[in-house]
Amino acid sequence: MPKRNNCLACISDNQKKIIDLGMNSYADRFISQENFSNSDSIFFLTCSLCKDCGLIQNDIVTHPKDIYHLVDYSYTASNSQYSKDYWRKYAHDICKNPFF
Ligand SMILES: [Zn+2]
Repeated sequence: MPKRNNCLACISDNQKKIIDLGMNSYADRFISQENFSNSDSIFFLTCSLCKDCGLIQNDIVTHPKDIYHLVDYSYTASNSQYSKDYWRKYAHDICKNPFF
């Protein structure tokens, strides 16, 4: 998997690794019974802080097709009212106090 070299928000390359959680597979996936014997992909799970805008982001770029189409993926932002309320408030807070 390719490593992210630039910030998703401001394109800066001024990144600092802040956490390393080792090797992990995708979360929130349901493996069908016929695929139990197949191995699941694993990736380095490290996150970096953009020193220019403050965004924390995953360092590895994964392909959406691998997450959403190869197996049954259970999470969407609209799954729960709590999630929708959280992201609505987060967007409101960001718009009131942008990083830039
Ligand atoms: Zn940034």
